[in-house]
Amino acid sequence: MPVDTNSANRTDASQTLNGLETLLRHEGSAPRYTSYPPANFFTEDPTAIATDLIQASNMADSRALSLYFHIPFCPRRCLFCGCHTEVGRSGAFINAYMETISLEFDLLAKQIDRTRPVAQIHFGGGTPNAVPLHYLGELIAKIRETFRVEPDAEIALECDPGLVLRPQLEQLRTVGFNRVSFGIQDVNLKVLEAVNRKSSRLPIPELVGTARDLGFTGINLDLICGLPLQTESSFRESVEAVIAAGPDRISLFPYAHVPWIKGHQTALEALPSPGTVDRLRMALEARDTLQAAGYEAIGMDHYARPGDELSVAKREGTLRRNFQGYAPPRAGQIHALGASAISQLESGYLQNEKDLERYIARVRNGELPLVGGYRMRVEDKAARDVINALLCQGTADVPALIAGYGLSEEWEADYRLGSLERLAPYLADDLVTEHNGVVRVTDAGFPLSRRIAAAFDPLTVSTAASATPRYSKTF
Ligand code: SF4
Repeated sequence: MPVDTNSANRTDASQTLNGLETLLRHEGSAPRYTSYPPANFFTEDPTAIATDLIQASNMADSRALSLYFHIPFCPRRCLFCGCHTEVGRSGAFINAYMETISLEFDLLAKQIDRTRPVAQIHFGGGTPNAVPLHYLGELIAKIRETFRVEPDAEIALECDPGLVLRPQLEQLRTVGFNRVSFGIQDVNLKVLEAVNRKSSRLPIPELVGTARDLGFTGINLDLICGLPLQTESSFRESVEAVIAAGPDRISLFPYAHVPWIKGHQTALEALPSPGTVDRLRMALEARDTLQAAGYEAIGMDHYARPGDELSVAKREGTLRRNFQGYAPPRAGQIHALGASAISQLESGYLQNEKDLERYIARVRNGELPLVGGYRMRVEDKAARDVINALLCQGTADVPALIAGYGLSEEWEADYRLGSLERLAPYLADDLVTEHNGVVRVTDAGFPLSRRIAAAFDPLTVSTAASATPRYSKTF
């Protein structure tokens, strides 16, 4: 597929008053599409499909293996948090969990073809750097004993910088990590205090510099746009502060307010927060600032230096969407371990128990602790390809993408017609173009990428009109 590297890289059109008004007219909720279908569809009985899905993953063309470990513990709860995590668990309980996740690995490894190469090992949460780090090292060592880990495999973790000093980074390097992501979120102390988050223990340039000195690559800093007490000028300072630190990647997520799922977020409603227009302006200005500073826009909310693996994948048209956001093609299929973790396989999804006690009990009983799943139909794979192309490259050749799936002419015609009907409001406002089935998100339309992608999602159509909001707003 031809790749337009200039697509979605400028925001000048949308900075005008008309541009903002147009975007606001189309504002609304949409899935983040870190998976297709979104996770609320993973309701099938996993016992009926797990073996098939894991075997199919062994047989898939893309045999590379990614392993994700979910560490659902944090020392304190950030009030904006949308993750599956718990605070206040005892050290003994955390140790029991870490020993259990190792047992789960043993159970899962029996079903995975041992000749598959491991391209990526990722620890997320939660706060992986808040648990005794020897457990992480022991898991990495066990993976190396069990599978062939690629020499250039990415071994990464998400870190709370409020806990990080140089000795911890040294220990993480020693046990095998080579990539790290720090959740900065904001640098304004009042904002951080309002959301119950601590600032980085090290000055951010020193944090990044130390990680780099120790040999970490692909160093990422996260920011969140739309938190209480943020203003355009305070957020500008946060963006400038992370740029000044010189990371390889910067993620700029819109705050996802979903109090119907995460009740603790309700506490933030009492605080003054930037409105929709302010949030949009902040995100657009940040995008321009990041690009002016030499970072390339990767999809909707990630930025990377031109030489970074993500930027290369974007330019080459091989970027992929997954639960970690965006990934290079070598990331492969993800087998996920730990409570609430979701395996993202070629033919479907498998989700683990969310309840920690049940998770531990089931693994110790010798069973994979699955609670939900989804077997991809051919139609889902076709829609997934279109949505991923739009979110990763900003353009999708719809007929070409769905042609290889052997679907009926009738299904293809219905899919294209239905999608075009849903796309019509965006076409009318030049937020997207369509020519002979090739859809391209315009520079003005990129903030609405998720809404535009939803036009090609036949499963969510029926739930979008539900009275209960199910997805976060796009900005
Ligand atoms: S550190 Fe991360 S996972 Fe933990 S509460 Fe804060 S945002 Fe949530």
